[in-house]
Amino acid sequence: MKFTTCLNCMDGRTQLPAINWIKDNYGIDWVDMITEPGMDGLLAEKPMEELSDIIRKVDISIKVHDTKEIFIVAHHDCIGNPVDEKKHEQHVQKAVEKLKKLKPDMKIIGLWVDHKFTVKKIPEK
Ligand SMILES: [Zn+2]
Repeated sequence: MKFTTCLNCMDGRTQLPAINWIKDNYGIDWVDMITEPGMDGLLAEKPMEELSDIIRKVDISIKVHDTKEIFIVAHHDCIGNPVDEKKHEQHVQKAVEKLKKLKPDMKIIGLWVDHKFTVKKIPEK
């Protein structure tokens, strides 16, 4: 059984689209989901010391489920991080860079969930 780690918004609309896309595109069986309202904005804008609780959960997922990737998800109509799509993309790219520095052995992948709940990869900066 293959697990992966996902940092997603708390918004219930974003869970299944993200899980299904990850399973379909990465051959993964289970997704460890860590959520906060407006996760992408938090990861991009908060200093690392304020993200320690999120990172603690990421570390548990990596340790107990031997995950190799961390997905970072942003989505349309996000109340926790009410910015436009371009800004979400920038937040995800910044979050990817921060996580890469922290977890150089992990693959860090940014995802966007649009108004139709279609998921696409956010290109790296
Ligand atoms: Zn949201």
